[in-house]
Amino acid sequence: MTTVGILGGGQLARMLALAGAPLGLRFLVLDSAADACAGQFAPLLQADYTDHAALARFAEQVDVATFDFENVPAESARWLAQRVPVFPGPRALAVAQDRLAEKSMFRELGIPVPEFADIATRADLDAAIARIGTPCILKTRRLGYDGKGQFRIRDSGLGNANADAAWAALGSQAGTVGLILEAFVPFEREVSVVAARSRSGEFRAWPLTENWHDHGILAASLAPAVVHVAIADKAIAHAQAVAQALDYVGVFALELFLVGDELLANEMAPRVHNSGHWTIEGAETSQFENHLRAVLGLPLGDTRMVGHACMLNWIGQLPDATAVLSDPCGHWHDYGKSPREGRKVGHATLRADGPDELAAGLRRVGAALARPAQVAPVIARLRD
Ligand code: AMP
Repeated sequence: MTTVGILGGGQLARMLALAGAPLGLRFLVLDSAADACAGQFAPLLQADYTDHAALARFAEQVDVATFDFENVPAESARWLAQRVPVFPGPRALAVAQDRLAEKSMFRELGIPVPEFADIATRADLDAAIARIGTPCILKTRRLGYDGKGQFRIRDSGLGNANADAAWAALGSQAGTVGLILEAFVPFEREVSVVAARSRSGEFRAWPLTENWHDHGILAASLAPAVVHVAIADKAIAHAQAVAQALDYVGVFALELFLVGDELLANEMAPRVHNSGHWTIEGAETSQFENHLRAVLGLPLGDTRMVGHACMLNWIGQLPDATAVLSDPCGHWHDYGKSPREGRKVGHATLRADGPDELAAGLRRVGAALARPAQVAPVIARLRD
């Protein structure tokens, strides 16, 4: 009997546990919250990620450890890695936790990135704005997610009022989590590659996915993205280069901006990713199953699509499930969380044999849930 330990007990750990059941796996989840939703399906050890006594108990009970949460302190990951195999490894985790380290790595690998600068002081910020120009975005290097820890600088203007505001908002974090300034990319689309690399170095990527955000939080994902095959191939080649450079093991996501035919890397997530949830119903093997196969050293499953898929995220509270459950394309996922503003509480995946059928399903579900704005950009893309 193999037990997989997961640091972090949110919906990603929950979906990993669900995917692991047919493989005969057991799980142990460590989370600081007693009501972490993966605890509904797997034993939960409630403890802080820095609690070495709890980490030791965790290590004793698992055969391999992985993450549902990328901001587990790198030091805790290193400590754990001395006692039990940890995938992805602490080095990959440390790079992916730091926007400056990951952008520097992308650039070294020849992957285009927006102009960026490390910001330690207010003078650095002024110098970087002068070099990069506006609009640009000041971001925390670490611990930012879903658009949090970001300030958009639109115009340097007279007296640099906007830079003052950005510094007032984030400057105090320069000495703790660090800051990075990035050029604002006037992107046409946001896309992501979700890919898996196994302990033996086998690499597989799912088809490129296009993503739409609402207030910095993922609202919808469409796969396959409606782009020229050369663009999709290039994005996947970038992901493969990143995986090899980090000797990465597990599933990860590489998020990119598409401007014309050019791809610019934004960031990577060292874990299964929200833009890969559609793989549960829309691919031969889901990202959750392949992550488990990768970290256990099993052969990876095929990442081919089964038709066309669109994932719709439910943020804050769940809409009426019956609109999705009664639709021939509909698949419903309720994470078992209590409603809270800005919280990911569930998603639906619509899957159909062709783009026209998928667009029709989106029209039906969008109308039934009175959410035309969430489905409209996806339907428009399917008509391209
Ligand atoms: P991130 O946390 O870096 O993924 O940023 C959240 C969202 O902010 C992204 O999905 C984009 O929509 C937007 N964003 C982040 N960085 C940039 C950038 N350099 N240029 C334009 N938009 C950006």
